[in-house]
Amino acid sequence: MLALGHTLSGAAAGLATLPVLEGRSVGEKAAWVAVWAGCALLPDLDAQGTKVTRMWGPLTGGVHVKFWRGGRRHRIVPGITDIVGTVAGGHRRGTHSVLGLLAVLVLVWVASWSRVGTGIVLAVCIGLGLAAAAVVLPGRQPQDYWPVNLGVSVLGAAVLVERGTTLPGWLAFAMAGGAAVHILGDMITVQGCPLGWPTGTHRVSLLPLRADGFVCRCVITPLLGVWCFVIAADLAGYDPLGAFFTALFSAWRI
Ligand SMILES: [Zn+2]
Repeated sequence: MLALGHTLSGAAAGLATLPVLEGRSVGEKAAWVAVWAGCALLPDLDAQGTKVTRMWGPLTGGVHVKFWRGGRRHRIVPGITDIVGTVAGGHRRGTHSVLGLLAVLVLVWVASWSRVGTGIVLAVCIGLGLAAAAVVLPGRQPQDYWPVNLGVSVLGAAVLVERGTTLPGWLAFAMAGGAAVHILGDMITVQGCPLGWPTGTHRVSLLPLRADGFVCRCVITPLLGVWCFVIAADLAGYDPLGAFFTALFSAWRI
């Protein structure tokens, strides 16, 4: 599935599970949905050329240079993507497995012990949330420019840490949940995901779809968008499906 499909599926799952935060503030609920949508991009931090790899420019993607015109680009400084990709055994391996999801839970828990760790997790969540918003909104968004995304993420995290913000208990689960939705999205493609990595490398594929094929692009992604709208409208107290079917049936009777 492509970035838009992953983001919409993460947002839909975040919206559908919002009742978990019953009684919490509107800001916390908005952060919950943003984290689900943003972290639905996270597992692709294992390969160059993805949305999440470009999020913070050279910090996530590394520094590549061409020594002569028309020549091959050489990596001179590795980015977070290169490190994650190496640790996770390459694209669609460790980050697309059950172990990868457990790693998210453990890393966030360990990070919550210190102010620096808290700041890093908050910066990652803000950056991913901005990237997700850029994927959903039409046209080129300011946060598509990596210095804007990096600047807002670092500044936002610094302000939150300075104000004494600690990582909420639900954050690690929302992050792992978003990543799990991404894995499910990749599992409906023919490439599948190696859920049991590293002990088992068998790729689980539920449907033989192509990530950039017609069904993913023109059927599943629009349906996810409609689903997001329906859930959001329902939470706002409006029943768009009910209104649609009432209008359809009354028109049919005529
Ligand atoms: Zn993926």
